[in-house]
Amino acid sequence: MNDVTQFTRADWQARAAALRFRNQIWIDGRAVPAASGARFESVNPATGAVLTDVARGGAEDIDRAVASARRAFEDGRWSRKTPAERKEVLLRLAALIRENVPELALLDSLDMGKLVKDAATIDAPGSAHFFQWHAEAIDKLYDEIAPTGGRDLAMVRRVPLGVVGAVVPWNFPLDMATWKLAPALATGNSVVLKPAEQSPLSALRLAELAAEAGLPDGVLNVVPGFGEDAGQALGRHADVDCLVFTGSTAVGKMFQRYAGESNMKQVWLETGGKSPNLIFPDADLDAAADMAAFGIFFNQGEVCSANSRMLVHASIAEEMIERMAARAAQAQPGDPLDPASAMGPLVDRKHADTVMGFIASGKQAGRLVCGGERIARDASDAYVQPTIFTDLRPDARVVREEIFGPVLTIQTFKTEDEALTMANDSPYALAASVWTRDLGRALSVSDRLNAGTVSVNTVDALSAMTPFGGMKQSGFGRDLSIHSFDKYSALKTTWIKY
Ligand code: NAP
Ligand code: MG
Repeated sequence: MNDVTQFTRADWQARAAALRFRNQIWIDGRAVPAASGARFESVNPATGAVLTDVARGGAEDIDRAVASARRAFEDGRWSRKTPAERKEVLLRLAALIRENVPELALLDSLDMGKLVKDAATIDAPGSAHFFQWHAEAIDKLYDEIAPTGGRDLAMVRRVPLGVVGAVVPWNFPLDMATWKLAPALATGNSVVLKPAEQSPLSALRLAELAAEAGLPDGVLNVVPGFGEDAGQALGRHADVDCLVFTGSTAVGKMFQRYAGESNMKQVWLETGGKSPNLIFPDADLDAAADMAAFGIFFNQGEVCSANSRMLVHASIAEEMIERMAARAAQAQPGDPLDPASAMGPLVDRKHADTVMGFIASGKQAGRLVCGGERIARDASDAYVQPTIFTDLRPDARVVREEIFGPVLTIQTFKTEDEALTMANDSPYALAASVWTRDLGRALSVSDRLNAGTVSVNTVDALSAMTPFGGMKQSGFGRDLSIHSFDKYSALKTTWIKY
């Protein structure tokens, strides 16, 4: 009955018709309107239809949310619970997410256009898994006694920071929020979350589920709204101790400025990418093509770590281009509620305009292998074909800049050194892939690639157990894994002489 892999398009449509949208601000455990009374429309990019109107939080609402988070933190209703007690609440939240997978998946799919089958098998179960993983970890971390010797006892303990502000993007709405919330809450902080304006609905439902799981009021507040007002107000707030962000590099730099111009809060950034995928002649070319297609067409290419630059050895270039064109032909966009669709629409018309601008520039700078057109369907023109370019100038915008859409560039190299120079010639350093059967080459190339994660004979390897994040202008600090707790805690020394 609840096996989402068996749901038909009609099943999803029926569930969508029965959805109730949470569309107020969530402060202190209650749904409230914006102080200003302002609202904004949440649009389904698959149809252009308005789903609901959502309270538009501004500076005053951020103030209320931060005050509520601060009260909760200071009175210890969560921050002074034992790790085992926090674990129990977050495990209940994970269970509630699992019970509500179809609803959470639909909210993200309708809000931003991703395939509901992906949201129901990857995003929503992933969110449950990440909450569970961080919950289970938190009562297994030991603190330290420093090796002072003598009549001294120096305890080094991990303590929560206080009020964490989290600002997240729209490409994986539920999961990007979860990647911040799970470790932030597990370590005992209070949080104010601002979801992206394109995709606030799953975060608002998540807040309600967290309350149902027993998270005390005020510990998690969700303020939907626009970046320039709600996002900026959070970034500049004098009573926020730490700001964690996933989104574009340009906005990430703003948060550093906001912090510098306000209270010097800690800022941790997960930002853009332009990840290379290196294919050597000894690779399994069919497997490489399958995964490369997944790596650029999954989630419409709206993935920070999408392997958007294929670098292929010249001797196999034509073979790979043919294979990729065949894969692209299989990846045509369609209704996100139809389990037969391979991609959905882009997040909105404006983003589709941006991606089409890149495609137009690519047509000037190189050879279009396939795709390149916008598709109108169901009264929406936010659909873009899977698109591949080759024979590009190295300074082409499609090679240098993050497109955040289903657009792949293919360039060729002759030597390993040349491949590495091309791969590392980017302001970004989030992820990279290498395809070869030669273990020595796999390791030496991996060592020399600038990237937070290098995947060998796969793309975009990721798990709760491994840190995720970038270097250079892809940001700093790590989500996921035990290391994610570092962002949400400070080391505190208590030194006792006896
Ligand atoms: P974005 O425009 O940077 O927005 C991200 C968040 O910042 C949104 O909540 C946004 O609010 C807010 N924001 C925008 N302008 C702001 C401002 N002036 N002050 C304060 N906050 C502001 O990014 P996006 O277009 O949503 O997402 C795509 C980007 O995210 C890509 O660059 C992608 O690489 C990156 N990303 C990175 C990772 C990673 O882990 N490295 C993961 C996923 C995505 P509004 O919604 O109101 O604009
Ligand atoms: Mg929307």
